[in-house]
Amino acid sequence: MNPFIELGIRHDIVNAISELGFEKPTPIQEQAVPVLLTGSNDFVGLAQTGTGKTAAFGLPLLELLDFSQKHPQALILCPTRELCLQIAKDIEKFAKNTPNVHVVAVYGGASISDQLRQIRRGVQIVVATPGRMLDIIGRNAIDFSGVKYVVLDEADEMLNMGFQEDINNILSTTPEEKKTWLFSATMPAEVRRIAKNYMTDPFELTVGTKNSGNANIEHHYYVIRARDKYAAFKRIVDSSPEIFGIVFCRTKIETQEIAEALIKDGYNADALHGDLSQQQRDKVMKRYRDRSLQLLIATDVAARGIDVNDVTHVINFSLPDEIENYTHRSGRTARAGKTGVSISLVNLKELGKIRQIEKVIGKSFVKMEVPKGADVVGKQLFALINKVQQVAVNDDHIDPYLPQIMDSFAELSKEEIIKRFTSLEFNRFLEYYQHAPDLNVDASESRENRGDRKGRSERFGRDGYKSDYTRLFINLGSVDNFTRGDMLGYICNNTRISGKAIGKIDLKGVYTFFEVENTSVDKVFSGFQQVDFNGRSVRVENAGDSHGEKRSGGKSYRNSGNGGGEGRKRRDHNGGGGFRDFSSKRREKSRW
Ligand code: AMP
Repeated sequence: MNPFIELGIRHDIVNAISELGFEKPTPIQEQAVPVLLTGSNDFVGLAQTGTGKTAAFGLPLLELLDFSQKHPQALILCPTRELCLQIAKDIEKFAKNTPNVHVVAVYGGASISDQLRQIRRGVQIVVATPGRMLDIIGRNAIDFSGVKYVVLDEADEMLNMGFQEDINNILSTTPEEKKTWLFSATMPAEVRRIAKNYMTDPFELTVGTKNSGNANIEHHYYVIRARDKYAAFKRIVDSSPEIFGIVFCRTKIETQEIAEALIKDGYNADALHGDLSQQQRDKVMKRYRDRSLQLLIATDVAARGIDVNDVTHVINFSLPDEIENYTHRSGRTARAGKTGVSISLVNLKELGKIRQIEKVIGKSFVKMEVPKGADVVGKQLFALINKVQQVAVNDDHIDPYLPQIMDSFAELSKEEIIKRFTSLEFNRFLEYYQHAPDLNVDASESRENRGDRKGRSERFGRDGYKSDYTRLFINLGSVDNFTRGDMLGYICNNTRISGKAIGKIDLKGVYTFFEVENTSVDKVFSGFQQVDFNGRSVRVENAGDSHGEKRSGGKSYRNSGNGGGEGRKRRDHNGGGGFRDFSSKRREKSRW
């Protein structure tokens, strides 16, 4: 017998989910469905996204509601528009063979009149984000007096996003005797409080261990210098030619810049963050879903609710500020029983954070080595071989050319021909990578890499500034989201001078003072001649002797502001996701 029938689900629904490929229940479905089907419990389910929790509450709702009535009987609240649409769509799919089921998705950023029209026509299940729901309630456009079940999905996310008060207000319009089902990936005190305030003796279910990550996710970390982060990131991506990944950054600015840098470097990437219009975000998401994008660079908020299966890698370009967010990020991979890798790029200072995350997710991270140039070359080569093996040959079109082609190769052996064809691609990445340096942090360098530059400044004179160093001013600072480590990397990347040539870095709000060995000063000035940061000219000046204020009239270089200096030459974007242009030696140079 179909295991869903054994759980108590009707045939018409089981037929619909069989078509979706649901052969047997996931652990949360197996445990939650029988409890929820009784309709008599409040419920708390601690489960990650990707565990099948939508069906865990969606299937029981379809069994419990009376679809001969056309008033709202179930309200599902969730944090994002994407998740809202996903849940509504999923439930409609489950109900494909069930007559008279009406589901409405209520979310901001779309026409409210369409949503109101659907509500007026009569719905039993309302899936909503809190803001728009309150708006509709405020217009007296919906009657929740017949609601029997409220589902709070991704409750921790909703609280993170500041929806607590909205949720209170919405719930106050529903009957006292309704049942509340809460799902959350984590159980911080705020979520516990909701459970306590709104529920009576809830049935609690934890899938996996508490707060633990999905068992199918491997957690890897790489220790690198801040200045090598972008180059290391590209190596990791290059050594996984089949990657279909989400790259998390901490800020919108970082997200945009990484995406731009990747596109310039020929990667198939785009950004998703809150400064984009809804339409732009939808477009990016569509491209990602269709897999015409290989790398989605996103902020935590923008990536909430992304439900794309088959994501192979989550890459934490920057670790999240809130450790809890790590679970949400990594949960974007290894969905629906698949496996996935969550990668973190850290400097030595951030190792403590990795240990903290390990405690939260209850799993150990594996330390990985940034692939060496030869490793990447090997991976790319075998990806090419694989592609040759898989390529679809269009006989009709190629046949007319074949006699001449065969003729051209008549003198060559099979081995020689294979060697030459593979060399066509191979030479390009071989050339690019053959002198690529090792980017792994050597433990003996750890002091330098702690980013505090203390080792050097201790050797300085009374005022802390050594005479064979020059103090410079740059018009970027902490408001531009630089840490000292980032600044070190930024200077080195733009000037190609070694981090050892840089002394103390004094990061201020809108500017920074930094010291450079006298012999490297010119390189710094010339390196920053044509650089812009977010459309702003980067300006470097001699800070003078005062160590406090920059001296006017000092040597100063300013970018022409055209946004495209040397090393930023536009490279064609290989939208097809195949081999990238490895021909430029500058590829590992970037503003990161
Ligand atoms: P969710 O956690 O509800 O977002 O589900 C994650 C993914 O797993 C979705 O794409 C579902 O369609 C899929 N899924 C849910 N339940 C099952 C099941 N029993 N068998 C196979 N796939 C499932």
